[in-house]
Amino acid sequence: RQKACISSLQSKNVVIRKSEKLKNKPRLEELVFGKFFSDHMLVCDYDDNDGGWKAPQILPFGDFHLSPAITSLHYAIQCFEGMKAYRTSENDIRLFRPDKNVQRMQRTADKLTLPAFDGEEFLKLLKQLLQIDSEWVPHSQEASLYVRPTFISTDPVIGVKHPSKARLFVITGPVGPYYEQKGTELFNSVKLLADPKFVRAWEGGIGAYKAGGNYAPTIQIQREALKRGCQQVLWLYGEDRQMTEAGTMNFFIYWINSDGEKELITAPLDSGLILPGVTRQSVLDMTREWDEFKVTERMVTMPEFMEAANSDRIIEVFGCGTACMIAPIHSILYEGQDIDVPTMTSGAKLSKKLFENLSAIQTGKVEHPWSVSI
Ligand code: PMP
Repeated sequence: RQKACISSLQSKNVVIRKSEKLKNKPRLEELVFGKFFSDHMLVCDYDDNDGGWKAPQILPFGDFHLSPAITSLHYAIQCFEGMKAYRTSENDIRLFRPDKNVQRMQRTADKLTLPAFDGEEFLKLLKQLLQIDSEWVPHSQEASLYVRPTFISTDPVIGVKHPSKARLFVITGPVGPYYEQKGTELFNSVKLLADPKFVRAWEGGIGAYKAGGNYAPTIQIQREALKRGCQQVLWLYGEDRQMTEAGTMNFFIYWINSDGEKELITAPLDSGLILPGVTRQSVLDMTREWDEFKVTERMVTMPEFMEAANSDRIIEVFGCGTACMIAPIHSILYEGQDIDVPTMTSGAKLSKKLFENLSAIQTGKVEHPWSVSI
């Protein structure tokens, strides 16, 4: 889509203005997800009518001065990513499969007609930002630095149309461990609300993209779930009530299938109903490599799941995503009934093994090509 005369995003042009007054870093015990931000941010501006991508900037973290008319504020021409940087015991800083997040952002940007950008150049800039703020990556193997790339349209013109101006930026901030380790218990398990009234995505829609517009409509439903004693929503789809994903996590069932085989199963990507999670892909890749049980990508319907639960064939159910990594699920509220699943009572063995293997890679305890040094 880019015009020939338009310049691309180039890390070599970066302009760096460091903050004169560095902030105090919160203590580990104080870390609340999303509340603290590092000293700097990356800002890359684009203008179709003014040469394309401008020189990227690394600036002190601060407010933006933007017109209240910008189209991202009105029509959600906006997308984002979420990833984490970890500190190894050797004080190296690592990202986990960052190329996957960059590619997902490029796919979403394209869907929203936001301008194209060079993924490798963007990753170089992101690494540079992390190097400047490296002291913000917690000195702990349990905590990490959350990285939030965001891409917004900035045309100051009311009207639903494809953007000619845009801003790609990255902010970061330290986050604590998702789970408070209580004694020997690693996890807090969650209960899901499965109500076919609520639909997150549909065929032909944008559920498979990480667009901000996918999230606003879920908040009221999430509140409803909390009111009904559940922590997250299990998103069902279609007349047959396919189990797609849960909250902002991909959804996995580990069961004995109807042929009597142990099988790990998750929704497929082909219908475009779920976000292609980086954690999901890693769980699939990892378990396929273990080759200890069958690993399948296909939709499971609510009736099929209930039948398996009633015949004691469910072993574990869990959600997965960057924030929590693995979230075991102990119950699903469906049509006024609690379907209890034995994830925790059976020891959450697979959930724990996945959690431990993934964190070992992320924090560099085990060397793996997925863990990328900045
Ligand atoms: N589904 C949705 C809707 C999400 O927002 C997320 C979080 N990005 C995920 C799944 C998990 O994706 P990832 O493993 O890449 O964090």
